[in-house]
Amino acid sequence: MGLFGSISQWTEMRKKKRIENFKSQGTCPNCQGKGFNILESEMMMGTCYDCAGCSGSGSFSAWAEINQLSRRFL
Ligand SMILES: [Zn+2]
Repeated sequence: MGLFGSISQWTEMRKKKRIENFKSQGTCPNCQGKGFNILESEMMMGTCYDCAGCSGSGSFSAWAEINQLSRRFL
C-alpha cells in the first residue's frame, strides 16, 4: 500500500469515527440532532429548513436509513 492508500484509509477511518460519535449520541450528523439547517443569510429572514439528512427528525437512525448506511453502521 502506497502513501495514497494510507491517506485514503486514514480519511475513511476519521469519517467512520465521526459517524460512530454521532451514532453513540443518536443524533443526525448533518444537523447535529437539531432537525433543521439554518443558513446564516436565511436566519436574518427567520426561515429554516428541515434537515435533508434526517428529514427533520434529528435522529441518527433516520439519517442512517435515509442515507442507506444502516447495514454498515448499525
Ligand atoms: Zn439532520
